[in-house]
Amino acid sequence: MKLNFNIQPLNTWAKVTKEPFLIAGPCSAETEEQLVATAHLLAKTGRVSVLRAGIWKPRTRPGEFEGIGSIGLEWLKRAKAETGLPTAVEVATAKHVEEALKGGVDVLWIGARSTANPFTVQEIADALRGVDVPVIVKNPVNPDLSLWIGALERVNNAGITKLAAIHRGFSSHEKTAFRNEPMWDLAISLKTHAPDLPIICDPSHICGNRELIPYIAQKALDLDMQGLIIESHIDPSVAWTDAKQQLTPSALDEIMSRLEIRKPGAGTAEVKDKLAILRNDIDKIDDLVIQKIAERMQIVEKIGNYKKDNGITILQVNRWDEILQKRTAYGAALKLSKEFTEKLLELLHSESIRKQTEIMNKDGISGSEQEHLTHA
Ligand code: PEP
Ligand code: MN
Repeated sequence: MKLNFNIQPLNTWAKVTKEPFLIAGPCSAETEEQLVATAHLLAKTGRVSVLRAGIWKPRTRPGEFEGIGSIGLEWLKRAKAETGLPTAVEVATAKHVEEALKGGVDVLWIGARSTANPFTVQEIADALRGVDVPVIVKNPVNPDLSLWIGALERVNNAGITKLAAIHRGFSSHEKTAFRNEPMWDLAISLKTHAPDLPIICDPSHICGNRELIPYIAQKALDLDMQGLIIESHIDPSVAWTDAKQQLTPSALDEIMSRLEIRKPGAGTAEVKDKLAILRNDIDKIDDLVIQKIAERMQIVEKIGNYKKDNGITILQVNRWDEILQKRTAYGAALKLSKEFTEKLLELLHSESIRKQTEIMNKDGISGSEQEHLTHA
């Protein structure tokens, strides 16, 4: 199914300062100082095309910081005047749209919680009728492609042609290393349905922590997404929202400098090269294997704590025998040699034991004794 969006390419409405297209700025505008100082540092990197800042924040629980409100528009104006960076804010109501436009904001985005609600999206779309402003639609919180497409259609039907999507991951009941599961296939599916629609990846909200951001950013570029939106704060340690996932402007600069920009596949010599395609497949699988091993270790830690609390020994031979037998048989059925599967499992097992030993000895044992024990 091809979708018929009437859209203008990204480079007709966004000046790409440096590849890849980058929107950056704090999760929230907190103070005039914080916003303006962050904007200056971001502008200095020469990598940022648009300055973002939330001024109306959708919060999960009441009582959390709900955004600085309209005064933030004045700060954004100053940041723009001093740095030359166009600005972007999240809008969630018709009133936000009105105020943001009056305040001279250049790009509007619709947040994940709003996209999940067609009434909200329609209200925003109606407020946008007759206005020529770029709008970016985040995916809904829940993994529902139609809801995402529906929101993009509502905005497009209101006459907005400077349109793009943001992939920020999806809420999942399964707890993994990510704050929001990337579920790449949904973003790929949107791209397949609407190849001309720019998709911008939001590694900050996918990861929920700084450490994973470079990997997700690189993966998004490798999947030929057209840009990134990344949260950056002058001092993330004191950020009022999303502190764990924000990066200082210089850390962001560093990450961006390491990203590899590979040219899109189809038709180029590189993609015709079978080896490149196969290696790409391997890379994807290796990433998954590493992610799954990390998830396994998180469960191992939970088990370790449980065993500690209940006075159960770390090693339970029966359980280990069972794992070994079942998995090697499964491996054999999948054409893996018994020796290989055994080696792999032993490696995993010894790391699990090491982790659990660490947990068991956490209190009341000296570092060197622990060192000795874990290597025993
Ligand atoms: C944000 O961009 O700060 C935000 C609230 O994101 P999301 O709507 O993706 O949760
Ligand atoms: Mn945020």
